[in-house]
Amino acid sequence: MNYEGHVLGGILTYPIAVLIASLLKSYLNLPFELTFVSMTLGYGFYVLGSDLPDMDHPDALIHKGAKPIVSVGIGSFVFLRARDFSNFTEFWWANLTIAWLISAVVAFGAWYGFSAVMPKHRGIIHTLTFALIYGLIVFLGVRYGLSLKFGEALFISLAAFSGYTLHLISDRHIKLI
Ligand SMILES: [Zn+2]
Repeated sequence: MNYEGHVLGGILTYPIAVLIASLLKSYLNLPFELTFVSMTLGYGFYVLGSDLPDMDHPDALIHKGAKPIVSVGIGSFVFLRARDFSNFTEFWWANLTIAWLISAVVAFGAWYGFSAVMPKHRGIIHTLTFALIYGLIVFLGVRYGLSLKFGEALFISLAAFSGYTLHLISDRHIKLI
């Protein structure tokens, strides 16, 4: 299935994820907190997850879209470090430019590195293990990054995992590892 099919599938099937979470909360007392914030963020991570596994395909839109974000992220991180070691000249403006020059070269390399280190299409990225890892990263991000309540983070994490799993189901490619 292509980009649009996966994303539209995610946009349309989100109510099922909400239903499952509501039933688990109602009958098994799982502590999901279905607030407006948790459900809208959950929607975002569900739909993102519904296309995310195709990051392992160099021609996929999500792969192309992730490249500049990864490059800028790595470049900025390098700048953070490079600026402490860059007393190359006595001029602050030259040092600043040199620090960004080093960062830009690393970011340039990261652009190609991202594609080079990505596992083969429908390999390890297209597995339930990665769906779990995605759910876990999202949980840690919203719980400790955005300081949401435990029950909200738990629901958003389930939504992220479900969206990713939906992608594997529509690919008919459901593997544990
Ligand atoms: Zn796929």
